[in-house]
Amino acid sequence: MEKTMPVNGKFELRPLAYAPQALEPVISAATLGFHHGKHLAAYVNNLNALLPGSGLDGLSLEEVVRRSTGGLLNNAGQLLNHNLYFAQFMAPRGGNRPNGDLAAAINDSFGSFEAFQEAFVKAGTGLFGSGWVWLSADNDGKLVITQEPNAANPVQRGLRPLMTMDVWEHAYYLDYQNRRPDHLTALWQIIDWNVVTARLR
Ligand code: MN
Repeated sequence: MEKTMPVNGKFELRPLAYAPQALEPVISAATLGFHHGKHLAAYVNNLNALLPGSGLDGLSLEEVVRRSTGGLLNNAGQLLNHNLYFAQFMAPRGGNRPNGDLAAAINDSFGSFEAFQEAFVKAGTGLFGSGWVWLSADNDGKLVITQEPNAANPVQRGLRPLMTMDVWEHAYYLDYQNRRPDHLTALWQIIDWNVVTARLR
């Protein structure tokens, strides 16, 4: 998978590839503004403050996540998680579906795209507290759904992360309040499966 390297010893807050309103009504501009501009920015700043002297400075973000614990893992994990999360979206009503190798792998692993979607939302709804639900590929190319608590990422298990939904309340509370399942279901409208498919290679 792609390696994210620090520049001059620091990881960067990647700008969003779309306008703040681009994902409405699924994700409001207000939610996107706080999520990217406040929550993610804080993780980046904390990570850059913790790295010097940690013994992990200069490594890729993915390697820092595999090797770190405690506060360093919390902030590095959240940066990796959010980079993958924000890059997988596109404007609503342009929705596509998995195709090619990814569509075949989803059918092999879950039976159908609809069965996969149902299992994924169930896993996200059932994750107690804060965390992430992931679609990942293992070394044999088999796809798995995992629940990861807090800042954890499937790279810690040796998996290749493909697609994710953030179930921290900051990802949806302004728009959906307590209705996490409604938020997760709405997110299917804005997943860009071309981005997800490219991560399989
Ligand atoms: Mn988040």
